[in-house]
Formats: sequence, C-alpha cells, structure tokens
Amino acid sequence: MTEEHSRLFAPFITPPAEWKNAEDYEFLTFILHAKTDNCLSCGATMHYGDVYRAFGHKNAPPHDSFRRLVPVNFPLPHKVPVVHFSLPPRDVPLCPHCLHSTREGQVTYLVSDEKAWQKALAEARAVQHNLRKTGGETASRPKLSPDDIPG
Ligand SMILES: [Zn+2]
Repeated sequence: MTEEHSRLFAPFITPPAEWKNAEDYEFLTFILHAKTDNCLSCGATMHYGDVYRAFGHKNAPPHDSFRRLVPVNFPLPHKVPVVHFSLPPRDVPLCPHCLHSTREGQVTYLVSDEKAWQKALAEARAVQHNLRKTGGETASRPKLSPDDIPG
C-alpha cells in the first residue's frame, strides 16, 4: 500500500476502536475471499466473494498467520491492492435459484430486507448481552417470529 493509499484509507485501515487492545493490531491488506457454491438440488454454480480488511498483531512472530478480518462495506478504488484467496468449492443443499421451484408454498421469510436483518441482529446481541449479565441463564430469550418483521 502506498503512502497516498494509507492517507486516503486511514479511517478504514485502523483497527476497530471497540476491539480490546486495538492498538496492538496493524492493517495488513485488503482480502477477497472468492467462493463457489454448487447446488445439490438444481446443479447451479454460484460465484461470489467477500472483501475484508485484514489486521495482524504487531508482536506476532513473522511465521504466524493469525489475522483478524473485518468485512469491508465501502467501495475500493481500482488502484488499491487486494489479496485474492480462492476458497474450495462447497456443496449446498439449496440455492436462491431453486428455492421456490422445489419448495413452492413452503418458504417462510423471517428476514426480508436490511431493516429486518438489523432488527434480528439487534435481538441476537441483546440475547448475548443478557447471557453475559446473567452468567448464562436465559430468563427471557427474545424469539424471532414472522410477526416481528415489518411490512
Ligand atoms: Zn439450486
């Protein structure tokens, strides 16, 4: 990464402030995990990828490959270097292409949009927070139901 890139992406190449000992980590690179799913129901092949910021511990030995990855949710300029990893293809039982044709009338939408997804994540975090506070006992565990999803 050039000095210009470092300056341009400073907010994105610093470790997340909420990390414990965030100052002990340094930005390594952007990483693309290229993935391939093979659907066992319809035979479709899906290619997709996830982009991450990779951080390494400053005191880790050179041969230590331990990294912490943070998903990237902003566009990367074309000149920014990215390390490409092709992950092994995996078989999946269903895919979005054949879900409806193989399960007509049997598909339930619990999470249908970004707003509903954020709500489901918030509920999951609340459950984890309550578990930490109560030491693992679950007095009232919120449960996601189709009635909870707006629209
Ligand atoms: Zn399929």
